Amino acid sequence: MDEAEAKALFRKLKIRTLLDLALILPSSYEDTRLSPRIEAGKTQTFEAEVIDRRIRGARMQVRFRLPALGRQIAGVFFKATPYHQRLFEPGSRHIIHGKVTLYNGWPQMAQPRSLKEYGRILPRYKTPLTESKMRELIRTYVTERNLYAEGLQSAEIQMLMRRHFPDLFAGAGELSTVPEGEELRLLKFVEAFNHLRKLRSKRREYPALKALDASPEPFLRSLPFSLTEDQERVIGEIRRDLARDDRAARRMVIGDVGSGKTIVILAAAFIAGSARSYLMAPTSILARQLYEEARRFLPADFPVALLTQSSREGEPQKAHLIIGTHALLYQDELPEAALVMVDEQHRFGTRQRAALEALVSRGERRPHYLQFSATPIPRTQAMMESELVDVSLITQTPFEKEIESRIVSREDFPALMEHIRSEVVAGRQVLIVYPLVEESEEIPYQSIDEARGFWENRFEGVYITHGKDKNKEAILLEFREKGSILLATTVIEVGISLPRLDTVVIVGAERLGLATLHQLRGRVGRYGRKGWCYLFTRHPESSRLRDFCRTTSGFEIARLDLAYRDSGDILDGTIQSGQKFRWLDLAEDEAIIAEAKGRIEALSRRERSS
Ligand code: ADP
Ligand code: MG
Repeated sequence: MDEAEAKALFRKLKIRTLLDLALILPSSYEDTRLSPRIEAGKTQTFEAEVIDRRIRGARMQVRFRLPALGRQIAGVFFKATPYHQRLFEPGSRHIIHGKVTLYNGWPQMAQPRSLKEYGRILPRYKTPLTESKMRELIRTYVTERNLYAEGLQSAEIQMLMRRHFPDLFAGAGELSTVPEGEELRLLKFVEAFNHLRKLRSKRREYPALKALDASPEPFLRSLPFSLTEDQERVIGEIRRDLARDDRAARRMVIGDVGSGKTIVILAAAFIAGSARSYLMAPTSILARQLYEEARRFLPADFPVALLTQSSREGEPQKAHLIIGTHALLYQDELPEAALVMVDEQHRFGTRQRAALEALVSRGERRPHYLQFSATPIPRTQAMMESELVDVSLITQTPFEKEIESRIVSREDFPALMEHIRSEVVAGRQVLIVYPLVEESEEIPYQSIDEARGFWENRFEGVYITHGKDKNKEAILLEFREKGSILLATTVIEVGISLPRLDTVVIVGAERLGLATLHQLRGRVGRYGRKGWCYLFTRHPESSRLRDFCRTTSGFEIARLDLAYRDSGDILDGTIQSGQKFRWLDLAEDEAIIAEAKGRIEALSRRERSS
């Protein structure tokens, strides 16, 4: 097999690396070794001689003698062709292979094949290639030497070789098609190792426009509070990133809502100083909030500008920090910036992300690039992604949030009403999330349209909005000032802060992914006051919802989300079932991923030093 052919086969298999190939394991094995005894229920191989046969219509029954065992067995063909009739002439000798059963106590083999080659265990692969091409490809590339060159060690190599070449190993007959125990652990390791290495190979490094090394201390000292340990650590990581000019920073900072990311953003802007930073937010309301926080916390002589479609404040040409929406991307008279930051990265659309990517991917020297996201990902995923971009996690929040989460169903409704009343009377606000705007047969819960009359008849200040609502932002701003109860769908991303909002009620909670529930719950209890989250459901027994109520850590919830990935009670499709890994379980296998990362580190250190 030449290299061009192998390349074409790799493409056909949709794989890129040698380990991708090695990880395509046989789906079954064909054992063509001669069997020492007849065992019903097994697929067996015997030396056999045809004694006689009976043909009735399409059905042919052949009587075989098994000289080595001194026994007989019947071969049964339900659709015997002339070929079969010629092949199994009385007196002819064969190696027969097929599944053995007992019929009225007599052994028989259904549709026996006459093998030309035998005495081996052949792996069978389910791929778009023919069996023989696939075996040839495996024989050519999956060798101990190649696997070793890929960075695997003896235990992993032996495991793979045994799977692909069971013949070469003792006890091969017991190979089950479902790996378990140590073998499964090794497979997971190889899968993690291969994935991490592919990610790492995609990472490209470019020199930075400038090294940014102003000390953030004066800014940090001026703050009215002291930083959390996580904030301090992440600012330290960013400081080291920005101080380099041989490598433009690429870092993703992930922290729950309320974990204090804005201060980290402002610290980075301060470090960049007059070398200039851009900060982009997904909406103009958020951009304005960031602008106001920047004005409040940064020193008075640090010029900041706001640039959105609707407003323009400060002087962009002179500003050290320019805050805006992605509309900034299309302003070509803007000055060059040494640092580009994106807040709430998870809320940008795919096209906007691509435009951002383009902005920081021009030229030989590139701006430092920091992204901030409030979508916690499981630690394991963060470990993986850090091969591609640096990842910082902020898992602490400055205030210990006190949120009471409760599962409620119909019979709890009076108590819930009681709570909502007393909140409204005390001047607090309540958000009620419905699954749909309009009535639907498919969903066993009320829609906004069906419920609104109920609330409007009982309360003043009921506001309504949803994802497709064009006046969403205006309604939210008015609700913030005058409202008591907001009826909405989940699609609404409440971007603006609602300081009086203390209670969220989620109708049909079991329909939503935990990440979505977490985002919604994150709206309350933000200002040091206690918050309440009610999950209204017809399935109060759901263990997923129970687990959700027990934790408020976004990172723990991301892990639970993974662990419940196959859970049946999510109907909105928030969670994709598409599993990336065949063996590895991101919810459980942190230690294995850490080991794979360690191996890769060690290998690349060895490479650098040689
Ligand atoms: P995030 O953007 O991560 O959701 P913010 O940056 O908006 O969170 O911070 C939430 C609130 O906490 C803000 O009012 C902010 O001023 C305040 N805050 C941030 N860091 C601290 C801290 N270390 N101590 C006390 N309050 C803080
Ligand atoms: Mg924020």
